[in-house]
Amino acid sequence: MTTPSLSSIRERVLAGERLSLEDGLVLYDPATSLQEVGVLANIVRERVNGNKAYYNINTHLNPTNVCVYRCTFCAFRADLRSEKGYVMSDEQILARGQEAVDNGCTEMHIVGGLHHVKDYDWYVNVLRILHNAYPDLHLKGWTGVEINWFEFLTKKSVRQILQELMEAGLGSMPGGGAEIFHPEVRSKICEHKADAHNWLDIHRTAHELGLKTNCTMLYGHIESAYHRVDHLIRLRELQDETGGFQTFIPLAFHPENTGLSHIKKSSAIMDLRTMAVSRLMLDNIPHIKAYWIMLGIGTAQTALAYGADDLDGTVRHELIYHDAGATTPELLTVPQIQRLIVEAGREPVERDTLYRRIERDAANPAAWTVGEQILAAV
Ligand code: SF4
Repeated sequence: MTTPSLSSIRERVLAGERLSLEDGLVLYDPATSLQEVGVLANIVRERVNGNKAYYNINTHLNPTNVCVYRCTFCAFRADLRSEKGYVMSDEQILARGQEAVDNGCTEMHIVGGLHHVKDYDWYVNVLRILHNAYPDLHLKGWTGVEINWFEFLTKKSVRQILQELMEAGLGSMPGGGAEIFHPEVRSKICEHKADAHNWLDIHRTAHELGLKTNCTMLYGHIESAYHRVDHLIRLRELQDETGGFQTFIPLAFHPENTGLSHIKKSSAIMDLRTMAVSRLMLDNIPHIKAYWIMLGIGTAQTALAYGADDLDGTVRHELIYHDAGATTPELLTVPQIQRLIVEAGREPVERDTLYRRIERDAANPAAWTVGEQILAAV
């Protein structure tokens, strides 16, 4: 097969046609001008989301860092009896909920370790107590890897587990745990946890049940451009089936304190190229997120011109990437995140987890109401 030219790719992007694996490899080739790839991604970004750039007011909750797995890229996990290990009590979890509500958060993002001893009911209880106490706080919780662990613990079907979690208050699922799907890479960085088939099947089932989910890709470690493009195409294929993914988040690997600490952190050039290639390949996923915690604020802001239309949120209590050496602040204020967006020439729009506009009361910014559904042209 002949290698596609950039001009033929440009023509197909302008015509709204789907790009192939070979096209993705050309876009990832360092010899292909990043500027040109960025311009194409920006055309698609503006076609899909206009000039808007989204953010939300959110907080993170990692109820435990104790984990049976030992993914080589992970700096967050702890052994069962290590000093670093912790398990939050119900009181601590509820205090986080209260803090979130007091600060006007619309979303709590909940992920953590797969604890050696805690049973499935403990994870269900995290959702239940939060949802009972703070029913307006959207709970985006448990990745496909955690759901797969619950299958192992309970021998129940994915469908039944997800239905039980929804009854307990689950509002949507985050996109973590996807890492790199290709077995050549997955077998080396996280061989024991949910494989590509499991991860995709769990998200398929979630979508069938009406749960919206996100999806991710961890890049900048031992994978090649081929593995990245293959990963994007697998996500695109599932989205063709279900339409249940809201947002794709490319996650830049942070090497500090991990089993891959000899690898250099990805450059801003790689981060922007990955953002742009993701926007171009994932023609059916509405939103591409520049997660400022991982990218750094400057690169995330620049990414708004390279395909990204979302900066994630103000974020509180992020541990996973700060444990791996992220030097970004632990939270941004609303004026700070709005200023980043305006400086980038975009229009800031506060959204909730399900991409509905959020209206704030100027006299009491912690109070909010849900407005219209935001539509993206995919
Ligand atoms: S990435 Fe998740 S599953 Fe893997 S070791 Fe870390 S906490 Fe455990």
